[in-house]
Amino acid sequence: MKIAILPGDGIGPEIIEQAVRVLNALDEKFEMETAPVGGAGYEASGHPLPEATLALAKAADAVLFGAVGDWKYDKLERPLRPEQAILGLRKNLNLFANLRPAILYPELAGASTLKPEVVSGLDILIIRELTGDIYFGQPRGVRTAPDGAFKGEREGFDTMRYAETEIRRIAHVAFQAARKRGKRLTSVDKANVLETFQFWKDIVTDVHKEYPDVTLDHMYVDNAAMQLVRAPKKFDVIVTGNMFGDILSDAAAMLTGSIGMLPSASLDANNKGLYEPSHGSAPDIAGKGVANPLATILSAAMMLRFSLNRAEQADRIENAVKAVLAQGLRTPDIYEEGTTKVGTKEMGDAVVQALR
Ligand code: NAD
Repeated sequence: MKIAILPGDGIGPEIIEQAVRVLNALDEKFEMETAPVGGAGYEASGHPLPEATLALAKAADAVLFGAVGDWKYDKLERPLRPEQAILGLRKNLNLFANLRPAILYPELAGASTLKPEVVSGLDILIIRELTGDIYFGQPRGVRTAPDGAFKGEREGFDTMRYAETEIRRIAHVAFQAARKRGKRLTSVDKANVLETFQFWKDIVTDVHKEYPDVTLDHMYVDNAAMQLVRAPKKFDVIVTGNMFGDILSDAAAMLTGSIGMLPSASLDANNKGLYEPSHGSAPDIAGKGVANPLATILSAAMMLRFSLNRAEQADRIENAVKAVLAQGLRTPDIYEEGTTKVGTKEMGDAVVQALR
């Protein structure tokens, strides 16, 4: 099993270092190779996604990614900006399924803006289709309206579309993920208004026949948004399209109130994936040794579960994270009175210790 390690910029290298230490503390050893990406890629070879980095990512069984971006690259032309690396990786590796768990450890319930009883113990998984929908559909643009009440006026337009294959493959990812968790899947659509999402609903219902052990229900996106803040713990796994998933996954992330805690995965059709924390490169705290490494450590656990088929090792890491939180250790972003403030490395040390 080979893992490509792409630390990136800002706090990326600091948090990845801790995740690598945690992986090295497991009984099984993995082959790991590091390469520059983002601003670091640009510095090394003039491009945010150097050819050698892409080749390594393609050859590896999984990619562990830190974060990219720094304000000092804001003046570069768009194709050379660090953030383009992540888009290039998604496209070249066909990563069409974005998995974002929203987990709120009971110890951190005070960090949420919602009442502790509504969110404490929250553990849901949002699966967002990542390469289709209105974000990529053609045609799109600004034109003179050819018809309708505003004929002859300038209008902006986009095209929402989903091919059957695109819906089937994301549905399979979702049913399989639900199978590994609470066996309940909610497909979020807008079938009452949009043809594309009536089609989505029909295809998801058809794929369900292959997963009789998973319970499927359907929910309109407006209701799903409401339920996410009213009673989020009722969900297990949610699957939805690119645009609805974009919005709902950010809302779900904020239920937990702590961006330094949230991992994510982007998978292809064979469960090969790129794993990264949900946050960015945090240039404001880079190099200070205070970044929270737990989202990246939990991303490594997701990698073990989804791409490397090592569910037991993933459980071990997740339990070690729970243990350090129970010990009261907190990086500054999740610190509360009465707990012990630690830095990036101390948090990594504690997780390694808890694993042993
Ligand atoms: P950000 O997520 O980097 O930071 C937002 C805030 O959260 C900052 O105050 C930061 O200090 C804090 N924060 C983030 N991660 C943290 C951690 N692990 N521990 C403690 N605090 C943490 O978002 P931003 O400031 O909007 O963007 C900074 C850079 O990151 C930009 O260049 C942006 O383009 C890039 N970015 C990259 C990715 C990615 O690599 N996938 C995602 C989002 C943003």
